[in-house]
Amino acid sequence: MSVEHKRRALITGASSGIGKATALAFAKAGIDVALVSRSLDKLTPVCEAVSHTGVEAKAYEVDLACVAQVQEKMQAIALDGDIDILVNNAGMGYTATLTETPLSDWQQVIDLNLTSVFQCIMGILPSMRTRGTGTIINISSISAKQAFPNWGAYSVSKAGLIALSQTLAQEERAHGIRVTAICPGAVNTELWDTATVNANFDRSKMLTPEIVAQSILHAALLPQQAVIDELTIMPSAGAL
Ligand code: NDP
Repeated sequence: MSVEHKRRALITGASSGIGKATALAFAKAGIDVALVSRSLDKLTPVCEAVSHTGVEAKAYEVDLACVAQVQEKMQAIALDGDIDILVNNAGMGYTATLTETPLSDWQQVIDLNLTSVFQCIMGILPSMRTRGTGTIINISSISAKQAFPNWGAYSVSKAGLIALSQTLAQEERAHGIRVTAICPGAVNTELWDTATVNANFDRSKMLTPEIVAQSILHAALLPQQAVIDELTIMPSAGAL
């Protein structure tokens, strides 16, 4: 698949999982990519793989958990080249019952999964508004819509992201900016191996990051007069 004119996408959390698969899918569609995560070491091989497709790829080391700095860092990335598509994908998994969730953990989850997205958007939106066009895709989760025990803080962060997406869509429509929230069920990524996640699901039944990346690309490439407000994508094997 190819696009008529050169576009540039900024993808957060592009060093692994859904973000990495999205970077590769976008590159194959001829879209230049700006890749963000905490680690240049992890981003560099992704950048190299993307570059093989012939598009321009650039890596940026940003800790999105430092929310007070995020807006400025995003503005700096946009100075390297206009961002047509912003994919807010970086995030963390977190499991614990609400009674076992310390306030500091709660704040960490909300900061990264929700507040950093708000600030990424605030960094990129002004330049999209100036050009009167742009697509913002936020990676939420099925847990935003469905309660699962042990996933309280995470669910709240992802439900907040849907509310953020809906409000932004209403406010920015008149400026030519489209907003999409994607809600995947379980995806087989490193998220399930992280120290903050304790869950024992059958990973072979999960979605793959490549499948989710195709949905993200589809939302990004829709003709300008159409928008996917919200897209839920689930493993067909069952409620994961
Ligand atoms: P991964 O753990 O594979 O990827 C997470 C990405 O986020 C990595 O690139 C990581 O990069 C980056 N990241 C983490 N913390 C920070 C930070 N503080 N600053 C900058 N970047 C950071 O997870 P997934 O691909 O599964 O998750 C991607 C998104 O999809 C998340 O928002 C997740 O909540 C959501 N999601 C995942 C599902 C799943 O089942 N896996 C289901 C539904 C939604 P680095 O370590 O290099 O900083």
